[in-house]
Amino acid sequence: MARIALVTGGMGGLGEAVCMKMAALGYQVVTTYSPGNTKSTEWLSSMEQQGYKFYAYPCDVSDYDSAQQCIAQITKDLGPVDVLVNNAGITRDMTFKKMDKTAWDAVIRTNLDSVFNMTKPVCDGMSERGWGRIINISSVNGQKGAFGQTNYSAAKAGMHGFTKALALEVARRGVTVNTISPGYIGTKMVMAIPQEVLDSKIIPQIPMARLGKPEEVAGLVAYLASDEAAFLTGANIAINGGQHMY
Ligand code: NDP
Repeated sequence: MARIALVTGGMGGLGEAVCMKMAALGYQVVTTYSPGNTKSTEWLSSMEQQGYKFYAYPCDVSDYDSAQQCIAQITKDLGPVDVLVNNAGITRDMTFKKMDKTAWDAVIRTNLDSVFNMTKPVCDGMSERGWGRIINISSVNGQKGAFGQTNYSAAKAGMHGFTKALALEVARRGVTVNTISPGYIGTKMVMAIPQEVLDSKIIPQIPMARLGKPEEVAGLVAYLASDEAAFLTGANIAINGGQHMY
């Protein structure tokens, strides 16, 4: 039976590439989308036209109850989740001086609370079955901080602590927990940055002098999900064109 890979935010730039890669490797791919997303049917049929059969469920990953209901439904319909990719995320960039509680809460809830909300209902089952993969998509800006991103940097840095602590707890159960920290990847989240800022401020910081490709991150997700990566846990893997090394 094909392993089930659940990718949150699979209709976004990075998530879509991860869904495609995992499907190409034979996983049964399930994704989530925000309950307010009106383009989910369109996305599913466009994927189907390209030969991909994905399952998609509405889920507000920032909401605990929504996440529990979503996982319960997936388990009922398809079976237990073997690979969880916590990918859904948002930014609400502004300097700390301007940051209000709404912008802070939205980013912490969507990027960090979501990791708890989604991991909680799948982790015990993975441990009981003796196999599982939890892959958290963080960011270079969680490693080094970024101007105008106190909320995002805090949420993404929080993922590293979560990863390391949970990795210890499930290490003997065949479950690995890892974080990937992408640098700037050419998705809609990054293309929302004005081109002049990309050209003058962002690209010059990247030794490879280009944005990353979603497929490059997807390849890393696929490796972490594989049996070959069984001894790799509690890690934070940077994929950023050399922008930040440690
Ligand atoms: P996109 O904005 O393209 O996609 C984000 C996805 O998250 C969307 O599919 C969106 O779904 C989903 N999402 C947002 N809020 C919620 C919510 N409350 N409940 C459920 N789903 C939600 O971003 P990217 O693909 O670029 O980013 C994916 C991840 O990678 C994020 O965590 C981001 O922080 C991280 N990252 C991205 C980098 C980049 O350069 N692009 C660099 C470093 C990290 P919907 O549209 O249905 O709301």
